[in-house]
Amino acid sequence: FSTAALIEEPITPPVQINHTKLLINGQFVDSASGKTFPTLDPRTGDVIAHVAEGDAEDINRAVSAARKAFDEGPWPRMTAYERSRILLRFADLVEKHSDELAALEAWNCGKPYEQAAKSELPLFVRLFHYYAGWADKIHGLTVPADGPYDVQTLHEPIGVAGQIIPWNFPLVMFAWKVGPALACGNTIVLKTAEQTPLTALYVAKLFHEAGLPPGVLNIVSGFGPTAGAALASHMDVDKLAFTGSTETGKIVLELAAKSNLKPVTLELGGKSPFIICEDADIDKAVELAHFALFFNQGQCCCAGSRTFVHERIHDEFLEKSKARAMRRTVGDPFKKGIEQGPQIDTEQFEKVLRYIRSGIESKATLECGGGRLGSKGFYIKPTVFSNVQDDMLIAKDEIFGPVQSILKFNDLGDVIRRANATRYGLAAGVFTSNVDTANTLSRALKVGTVWVNCFDVFDAAIPFGGYKMSGIGREKGIYSLHNYLQVKAVVTPLKSPAW
Ligand code: ADP
Repeated sequence: FSTAALIEEPITPPVQINHTKLLINGQFVDSASGKTFPTLDPRTGDVIAHVAEGDAEDINRAVSAARKAFDEGPWPRMTAYERSRILLRFADLVEKHSDELAALEAWNCGKPYEQAAKSELPLFVRLFHYYAGWADKIHGLTVPADGPYDVQTLHEPIGVAGQIIPWNFPLVMFAWKVGPALACGNTIVLKTAEQTPLTALYVAKLFHEAGLPPGVLNIVSGFGPTAGAALASHMDVDKLAFTGSTETGKIVLELAAKSNLKPVTLELGGKSPFIICEDADIDKAVELAHFALFFNQGQCCCAGSRTFVHERIHDEFLEKSKARAMRRTVGDPFKKGIEQGPQIDTEQFEKVLRYIRSGIESKATLECGGGRLGSKGFYIKPTVFSNVQDDMLIAKDEIFGPVQSILKFNDLGDVIRRANATRYGLAAGVFTSNVDTANTLSRALKVGTVWVNCFDVFDAAIPFGGYKMSGIGREKGIYSLHNYLQVKAVVTPLKSPAW
């Protein structure tokens, strides 16, 4: 392993932490209880800041502010063009502050700084440019009803949106949620993940500098069972959007149903197949399958975590995949050229190690890796298992870590059946040079996204979401707007139907 970069003394991140309070009604405020919680540096487990801990009372305050901003304006009553201008100004401000934001994101998440700077910040900006573009293009229809009536549909904002996001891509998840909600004229209470509260507070400050009126976007840092549950079950929240685990998704859906039946969109877990056919270019397939699994320390809901390889190319693929994993550079996310940082926290770290032990116990072959790296923080060696069988835990559960499972197949029909034999249906990768094979697989796989000869392509215009227990609804693209709009039919009798 390239452990040279795993230095004892962590590099000091080039950014200051300026915002640690809750953001309610345009003001940074302490939590009602006065409580704070520590946010940690995944490189060491040390505290990097103490953050105000929101609870039910803070959610109440935030929802009241969002309600007032919605009911009394100016946000929903501004012209759509004015809203669009604010979103654009915000995107430009974020672009200006990209370096600090990438540093803060890398610090709080343990992700490589270069990844945050080169892909996540540009994607964030792109997402807000995209949604700014939509803001003044949302409109209803004139409907030809069967009768003497003038019928129109009005596309109206729903109201106060509650949004709960995870820790693996705090900024990108912020953009997926906040962008469409604001473009449609809603107001928001956003609860960040307890592991990663920092960047949302930073960008929310920039949003206000860009002219966002107070109360339109409120940010509450805090824990799931307290702040998160209070938001999901709040009687005055009109819509809930959640990204996280399938287990928690079920909880919030139930809370929403038991309170005011607010509509819910869910983006949940996955166990995505990555299918490499016998006609694939092996070197390219190795690199792409490696990226599909190891990207972001393996902490992606859509990670290609079941690598199905045709038996004719299996052995060569395996040797090369193992060599690639062993070349993966792991270390301080602030060091140049680092591909993999630490896992987010001790809980995830222990969970991944448990799955590695389970793989070994179930008699999969451990090809490389298999344990922690270094003695500090939450680093895990890039791990590859071969001889993985469908019924093993490592082939069924979402591991959310740098653990690649390689499975063999010999028949297209068989691999389709096996790829679909999971409760998840988020994404799939297909690697083939045969267009008929690509077409067959992309239609047969029960997933929300099929990446053919590519993986993790996340442009703002491409919808994303899951089949089965991977979720409800789609985010990004034109589809995301439907989540944040009510459709009102307006029917008026016509005096002169003959026209
Ligand atoms: P993970 O296991 O990856 O941390 P979770 O689904 O638990 O994923 O967390 C995703 C988000 O859901 C976080 O913001 C977390 O605080 C929140 N959350 C966790 N439990 C609950 C809950 N009971 N009610 C509402 N939100 C929750």
